[in-house]
Formats: sequence, C-alpha cells, structure tokens
Amino acid sequence: MESIKAATATDVELQTVIMYIRRGWPAHGASVPLNIKAYMKVKNELSEADGLVIRGCRIVIPKLQRTAILHKLHEGHQGLIKCRDRANSSVWWPGLSTELKNAVLQCHTCLAQRPTQTREPLISTPLPDRPWQRIALDLCEHNRNNYLVVSDYYSRFLEILHLPSTTSSQVVQKLKSTFARFGIPDVVVSDNGPQFSSSEFQAFAREMDFAHITSSPHHPQGNGHAERAVQTAKKILRHDDPLMALMCFRSTPCATTGFSPAELLMGRRIRTTLPTLEKNLQPKWPNKREVKRRDAGQKAKQAFYFDRRHGAKPLPPLHPGDAVLTKLDQEKAWTTPAIISKESVTPRSYLVATPQGAMLRRNRRHLRLEPSPRAMPQPLPTPTVDAEEPPPQCTGASTPETPHLAPSLAPTLAPTHADVPTLLRTRCGRVRKPVSRLDL
Ligand SMILES: [Zn+2]
Repeated sequence: MESIKAATATDVELQTVIMYIRRGWPAHGASVPLNIKAYMKVKNELSEADGLVIRGCRIVIPKLQRTAILHKLHEGHQGLIKCRDRANSSVWWPGLSTELKNAVLQCHTCLAQRPTQTREPLISTPLPDRPWQRIALDLCEHNRNNYLVVSDYYSRFLEILHLPSTTSSQVVQKLKSTFARFGIPDVVVSDNGPQFSSSEFQAFAREMDFAHITSSPHHPQGNGHAERAVQTAKKILRHDDPLMALMCFRSTPCATTGFSPAELLMGRRIRTTLPTLEKNLQPKWPNKREVKRRDAGQKAKQAFYFDRRHGAKPLPPLHPGDAVLTKLDQEKAWTTPAIISKESVTPRSYLVATPQGAMLRRNRRHLRLEPSPRAMPQPLPTPTVDAEEPPPQCTGASTPETPHLAPSLAPTLAPTHADVPTLLRTRCGRVRKPVSRLDL
C-alpha cells in the first residue's frame, strides 16, 4: 500500500486528477488533457483518501504499479471473468479491462493448460471401385502372440496372420502369401510402426508396385478402417475356435454394405456349416452401385453421430509461418512451440518445425495457434520431409493422413533381425527368403 502511495505521489496523471478532485472538475471535457478524459467520465465516483485516488471502493493504481497488479489479478491463473471480478472489488485504472483481457489471453501458463481440442468432423472415405484395390494393415496382439491384420476397404474381407516375430521380414512374408491369394493391391495403408517404415518394407512396396500410405503419427483416428479391423480381429481371436469365427465373419453380410466380405471379394457366397440351397452358392456379383449407395448412406450416418457425440467442429486452417503450440492427446500441456512449415498433401495434416530443428507431422487437432509468437531461437531448417510419391486421393478422418515419409525422417526404429530366417540368394543375386508354412 505504501508503494502505491509513493507511486501515486510521483504519477503526473494521478496528481492532475487529485488537483481536479480538490478544485472541482471543469464543466466541459474539452478543457481537460487527453489522458485525463477517462477519469473525467467517472468523476462522480472519484475521491482522494490518504494520498490515494479512489474510484468508488477501488484504488486507482498509478502507471508504475499496473503491470505488477495485473500479475496479481491473474495469480492462480483463473479465467478472464474471475480476474475481472477480482479487479472490480479492489483496483481500477483507465483501460484496465483491455489490459487484463490481453494479459489473460496471452498468458503462456494458461495457454499451456488449455484442454485438448475437440475432434473435427469426420470425413468418410468413399468405397474403392473394386475389391482388393486398397487394403489396410495393422498389428494386433492376443495371448502374447502377434498377428498381422489385413483388411480390404471394399469388401471388409479380413486376413489374420500369425507373426512369429514383428519384424519387417515377417510382415513382408505374410503379405506376400496374401498377395498370392488375392493379388497385389494398388494402395496399402498402415501406421508408422517400425515394420512399415523400414527400408525393407519400402523396397517391398517398390518391388510389388503398390503405394504405401501411413497415417499421421499419434493420430490413429486417421486410419479408422484399420482400427476397426483390429477390433474385429481381436474379437475373432478371443473365440474358442478362431478359424470358425473368421469363416462366420467372412460369410455374414456386413452392416455397411449389406453383403458378406466373401461375396464382395470373390463374387460368391462361401459354404459354411449352415445349410443352404445350391443356387445360393453359385457365383453372382453384388450390384456395385447398390453396394456403393448403401455404403455411402451408412457412412454419412456414422459421420453424423460421430460429429454429434464429439461435438466436432472444424478448426480454422493454419498457414506457413504461423507460430503454434503442439500437444498430443496423451500430453498434459500445450508447451511445445513450433512453426508451421507447410500443409501436408492430405487434409488436416501439417509439417511443423520445432526450435530444435526437427520436422514433425502433426494433425490439425494437435496444433494450436499461439496468440503471441515467442522468438524462435534458431533459424528454421529447410523442410527435408516430403511425400515420397504422389499419394492417391484420400480424404481425411477415416483414411490416413499423409503419404510415407522420406526414409531420412521416418522413425528410425530398426527392426530386430534376430529371428529372420536365413536369407538365400537367387542366381541373379536377389535375396530370397525360405517359404514358411501358411497359417492363420
Ligand atoms: Zn494464466
């Protein structure tokens, strides 16, 4: 209090106000100095007491002390309304409201504590044009066994393949066996697991001539199809007789398309333990337009309920050079600063540069525009990440985010090669792995 008195005594503005309080205010505002006009507006509430200027029951704070008082008002990092309430019962100065608002909205502690952003509206992936054109891969664990789950976007046909180890070699081997059955797809979608980001897997993609797309790191929602396939696979694996459960799944009409995965992939119903007429087992392709129509209708419904359930709202787009804070869902606070480098080729995905010089891929939901950019200590690195090959058309939420990273920036978790079978060399020098038994 004494320091406020002392500061008031040397504050030219407040001394002028005291002068007016003592001598009386002029009749017209025009004759008071510009910086006094704000006081003139509340002149009836102003008084002088013991060397302080008082407005009603609030102390008028001199300029020198205002920053310190702003900090005190926001002590405990309460929201703007609470801070205003605190001010209303104790202190005032012209422009306090605006200064307080800026202080609260730009407080880094408060910015860091803001909750995770709500989800953005679901964008559904349209059904591919034919079976086995686009497939999703994911790993799943059950009873300490690892499985490779392969799922076709068109038919929802599921393969659950036991993996003796989770190395790239094993995944490649199992995929080859699947491709032997159904052919090579155009597009393979996966997450950023080490099996899929390894150079071995990339070489396999080149050899087999399929485009490999990965979802944004830490954003599994970007690969909804694979996520759902894994859920189904886990349910099947929990059965006493998983192979029977798998046959049931493949022969049961899917809620979205109205046809069974087997029908959509192979053009015929498969014979199961259920008695059925011979004519029902004759090959017959489901009407593709009908399948597409039903699928689109179901997906629109799912999107509607998803958006309603999550209160999904589109977030405004970001632009290169924007200062942002990043926070992944499992992180507590918005503390990691970054600068938007560029928009990724797929929706809602951005490449961001950190002050440490790293280039990260992040979903829009994990980025928040920073109101007052902090100085970036180091110059931005030139973006070294880019799409390896032009990705096929893909649309958002239930599809992956971004095409595969250049090898230099892909996560460099080297797969363990401990249990890779001995490599054989063909006469032309190409490395060949011994064929392993086909199993579930
Ligand atoms: Zn704060």
